[in-house]
Amino acid sequence: MNLRDEQLEIYRDFLKIPSISAKKMGIEEAASFLKDLLEDRGIGSQVMKTSGHPVVYGEHNIGADRTLLIYNHYDVQPVDPENEWEMDPFSAKVRDGRIYARGSSDNKGTLIARIFGVEEAIRNKELNVNLKFLYEGEEEIGSPNLHEYVTGNKELLKADSVIMEGSQLGDGGRPVVTLGVKGLLYVELKEETGGTDLHSSNAAIAPNPVWNLIAALNSIYDGKRVLIPGFYDDIRPITGKEDSILSEYPFNEDEMKKLFALKAFRYSGSEKLVRELFTSPTCNIDGIISGYNGEGTKTVTPRRASAKLDFRLVPDQDPSKIYGNLKRHLKEKGHNVEIKEFGLEFPVRTDPGSALAKAMIASAEQTYGKKPVIMINSPGTQPMAIFTRELGIGEGVSAIGAGDHNSRAHAPNESVSVENFYRAMDHARNFLKVFR
Ligand SMILES: [Zn+2]
Repeated sequence: MNLRDEQLEIYRDFLKIPSISAKKMGIEEAASFLKDLLEDRGIGSQVMKTSGHPVVYGEHNIGADRTLLIYNHYDVQPVDPENEWEMDPFSAKVRDGRIYARGSSDNKGTLIARIFGVEEAIRNKELNVNLKFLYEGEEEIGSPNLHEYVTGNKELLKADSVIMEGSQLGDGGRPVVTLGVKGLLYVELKEETGGTDLHSSNAAIAPNPVWNLIAALNSIYDGKRVLIPGFYDDIRPITGKEDSILSEYPFNEDEMKKLFALKAFRYSGSEKLVRELFTSPTCNIDGIISGYNGEGTKTVTPRRASAKLDFRLVPDQDPSKIYGNLKRHLKEKGHNVEIKEFGLEFPVRTDPGSALAKAMIASAEQTYGKKPVIMINSPGTQPMAIFTRELGIGEGVSAIGAGDHNSRAHAPNESVSVENFYRAMDHARNFLKVFR
């Protein structure tokens, strides 16, 4: 067997371990598989306990001044609906140049490809930085113990740069480099007016919690601007370099409208839409529950109403400060809603001129032969700030992974093209060659 075939077989063996975190399956097995894989490549590693599933930690020190932390996760999503799979989701079958398995693209392909890229860089003495590896086993259930693990191991994890799990190859085969993430504040608002639903004739004398909730929601957002005091105060201005990255972002308004099956966007013009997508914070209602929503009619004055909201935040908005301001704002406006917080993530935006961003962009172009698509930060959220804030790491990126737009992550028949798996490996090595 040649080296590449051997590497593909190891990737397949890893995919055959059904490490579904939500079902607590295959976790120990996947963790010890990774520990052995690192150790066989001369990378010191250990399986570390957390309050949940273990973390696999690895380290390769070459005595350099700088250290790169590589984050991936070894857990995968459940497979259901299982009957929509054309093969056993853990058979790792190769068909027409693609390898099919749950977790092949999210995120085992990238994880393994990076290890092989590192191995080749070590063998060819191309490494310029020390490496640390952190493999989490709870990403697909929302990383409930990552924060505790990171803050409890600050010295061990100390690094100068971090790469997150990886985005996929974009449309037209252009690699995507993401220089940060939006933050998140997730809350629930609850309005309760009594202990029982009432006949709606009582609406004449009993308050309706839905109207109260709507009034509270309207006091938060007017459809264009968030009305929480200070909400926009800490937003970091876009630099000239970031501005030109935004101008180059490929976005076709008509095509995207079709893809999203939308009647209309909130704004018109591709340039405006790109700017809103990457640089504006949002206030989104995820859902509202109350009263009667069944067939026909029921005349009722409900006893309670609730809404879930998420705010996507941009650098340098602070989710905990905004949460505090939101609570104060509602009280001051006289809304008696109960408020509960369901999650806070800080935003991150890495300087496009940083050593990490420059090396990632240059090596992506070299490996894929195409100019990378750059995002100044993802419009979505990943727990990147756990590393940048808790460990004081100045630069973080989400690098290209092994997946592509046909990979169907989280869905049935998830797959990775074998060629892309090898290219992700080459990219990891090419990146390490130029990163210092
Ligand atoms: Zn993932």
